[in-house]
Amino acid sequence: MSATIIDGKAIAQEVRAKIATAAAALSKEHGIVPGLAVVLVGSDPASEVYVRSKSKAVIEAGMRSFDHKLSADTSQADLLALIAQLNADETVHGILVQLPLPSHIDSTLVLNSVDPGKDVDGFHPVNAGRLATGQRALVPCTPVGSVILAKTIHPSLSGMDAVVIGRSNIVGKPLAQLLLGENCTVTVAHSKTKDLADVCRRADLLFAAVGRPEMVKGSWIKPGATVIDVGINRVPGEAGKTRLVGDVDYKEALAVAGAITPVPGGVGPMTIACVILNTLRAACASAGLPEPKI
Ligand code: NDP
Repeated sequence: MSATIIDGKAIAQEVRAKIATAAAALSKEHGIVPGLAVVLVGSDPASEVYVRSKSKAVIEAGMRSFDHKLSADTSQADLLALIAQLNADETVHGILVQLPLPSHIDSTLVLNSVDPGKDVDGFHPVNAGRLATGQRALVPCTPVGSVILAKTIHPSLSGMDAVVIGRSNIVGKPLAQLLLGENCTVTVAHSKTKDLADVCRRADLLFAAVGRPEMVKGSWIKPGATVIDVGINRVPGEAGKTRLVGDVDYKEALAVAGAITPVPGGVGPMTIACVILNTLRAACASAGLPEPKI
């Protein structure tokens, strides 16, 4: 048996096309053009690439993109002042502060200063609380994208046994909350979990968000399970180059799983699509409109 490969790139493209259609309707019917402000402090090359691709995707979706590139020595007070200005700007519906921030800046303080209604990363405690209590929330993009990918295989996740490896605030915990909302029976595993392989073997849906290259072996996977690999790890490749691998041993998993996301080309492209989706959601919520159906 060879698993179905879940093509995150193609699915992200479909999601982005649907967002563009919904954004065009929002503009035509309500005169609202969703706007995303991205704040980058310093010149980390990986962050710069990521920010550029977000801005490009925003513009392709027919939305406005506002880029704020600040020098690495920007003071915390100046950054907070910029966020206050973006919070008050009616043309800005989403604010994204690219992490990591330089060490002289308190990241938690900065993220908590973003208006929760514009918090397209879904990191603000108000949004975490809304998600946990089943209220309308802006939810972190990677978990949203991971669930969309799982639902391409199983349109209803209800009653399925889901295991999430990882309990970070940006991936594992919100993912577990989303899966609970989908009526899964959810187990959250982490570095102190006993018999992790046994725990994983119970999963109809296995989500790996650990940051350890190829840690999840084929023998950990229940035959036929759907495996969503969130991990992105750079490892030494051929001829002195590097290559990207996930948290799952892809070759081994292909022979056991029913469906699996590749790395790259799985969850990664969905994260950017969901930034755009959250900008659209934030714009709709700000106008008192219902959640867009994507
Ligand atoms: P964190 O480092 O914040 O969290 C890692 C989690 O894995 C922790 O909960 C940790 O447990 C757990 N863990 C670590 N080692 C083990 C182990 N040996 N066994 C079981 N659990 C373990 O990472 P993130 O959540 O931020 O990211 C996870 C991965 O996802 C990374 O590879 C990251 O690059 C990737 N990522 C990908 C994105 C995408 O767009 N595709 C976006 C965001 C992240 P404990 O809490 O006990 O320490």
